[in-house]
Order: sequence, then C-alpha cells, then structure tokens
Amino acid sequence: MPTNFCRHGFAVASLLVTLLTSAMASAGRTAATTDGSSLITVVIDAGHGGHDRGGIPGQRIPEKEVTLDVAQRLRNVLAASGYRVVMTRDGDVFVPLATRVAIANSYRNAVFVCIHFNATKRMGAEGIETYFYSRDSLPLASAIHYYVVGGAPSANRGVRRRGYYVLRKTSIPAVLVECGFLTNPTEAAYAQTASYRQKLAEEIAAGVRGRNSVASAASTTRVATSESIPLQPYIDQTKVAKSSHHRSKHSHKKSARRKKSSSKPAGSEASSASTDREG
Ligand SMILES: [Zn+2]
Repeated sequence: MPTNFCRHGFAVASLLVTLLTSAMASAGRTAATTDGSSLITVVIDAGHGGHDRGGIPGQRIPEKEVTLDVAQRLRNVLAASGYRVVMTRDGDVFVPLATRVAIANSYRNAVFVCIHFNATKRMGAEGIETYFYSRDSLPLASAIHYYVVGGAPSANRGVRRRGYYVLRKTSIPAVLVECGFLTNPTEAAYAQTASYRQKLAEEIAAGVRGRNSVASAASTTRVATSESIPLQPYIDQTKVAKSSHHRSKHSHKKSARRKKSSSKPAGSEASSASTDREG
C-alpha cells in the first residue's frame, strides 16, 4: 500500500507543518508584546468621521478630527511597543457602527479601544470618563482610565458601565474613553495642542499595557462586583438639561475630590453632562 502510505505520510507532514507554523506564530506573537502577554491586536476606533462630525450642533472643534489624531498617535505608540494595530478608520471617512464592530469581532486575542471627546451645552462641564459594558472589559477600562486621568489636567468623571452599541456588540474587551470636553474652553485648548494629544495617546497605551496589573492592584473589588453595577440607559442629555445641570455640579465636586485616586466604584455617578452620541 505504498500509495496509501504516501498519502498518510503527506497528511502527517502537512499537519506537522501546520502545527509548527501556528506554534511559531504564537511564539512570535507572545514575544512581540512588551508586557509579556499574548495580546497581539489592538483595534483602535476613532469616533465619528466623514459627515458625522461628532459633538453637538454648532460645536467649533470637530470631534472627528481630534479623535482621529489621537487614534493615529495611539497606533504609533502601540506599534512601537510591538502590538499589532488595526484602525477602524484612518482618514476622514464615515464608518457605520456595525462595520466598526465587525472589524473588532474579526480578531481573536484582541481588545477594542474607542477614542472620543465629550460635548455639552454647559461650558463648565469637564473631565475624563471611561465606559465599558461587559465584565471582561472592566480591567481594561479601569487601567485606561487610571492612566488617562493621571496624565490629564482634567477632572475624574469615573469609569462607567453603559450599553453603547460599540461596547455591547463587541465580543472582545471593549472600552470607550472620553478624553475631555471640546465644549469646555480649557479642555478644548488642550485638545488642540499636538503635545497633549500625544500625551493622551501615551496614557491610553499605558492602560493597554497595564490592563492586568492596574485591575488587580487597584480595582479587585470593582472587578468582583462588576455584575452589580447598574447599567445606565442611554439618555440624550440635551433633552434633560435642567436636571443634568444640577447633578453634574454635584458629581463635579465628587470628581475633584477623587482626582487621581481612580478608586471610585465604577458607574456610581448616574448622571452625565455628556451628549456623546455613541460611536
Ligand atoms: Zn463622540
């Protein structure tokens, strides 16, 4: 049965080659990251784009431009650290939310990071907030928030759980970071400087790298209780301006006290002056 033997031999050899190739590929992936993990892909999602300018009507600084710039800087920082990086958009184009999610979900062993800036009619609203949805996403959200708040001159608005489409529909750990209010004169001035956008990118990258250590060191309790975190329904804050104004003031006081501590229970601030429009 030489023919059969040959076939068998060929099949075994092919299998060995396949196994060897995939083993080498994983070894390469592991070695490629600087934090020793096997994470290979970071899918970066620059909010908005094309006809979707982001922010609120009449807003002077287009959110879509600063999100893209921070996303591109983040790509460069992460690529330099050995991560494989995928951008959901790399120019001023409109990408539907479903497409962004499909891109994210086409990778295994990956995380999804959405970059946004906040906006509201109330000029005084300020600060950094980070959103997650699934339990698996909380360590990454905590770490990114910890670093960005630590590196930004802005208030700490906390880590919050919310069912944004891009967070709900992604099957990999997914985080949306709001890097400050473009409607706040001080934060807008920061956002318009390249050095500050670079700083944001570096802090977000530090969060990606430290996603396991920050979660275990600073928010074990939060991880353990994440299922009890109430899900905040999406509310168009522009339509409830009166009540959100009052609550925002309250949460700002709390935020100031908590600045840099990053230890507040996730999602405990039920209100937001945010008018972010999901993606
Ligand atoms: Zn946005």
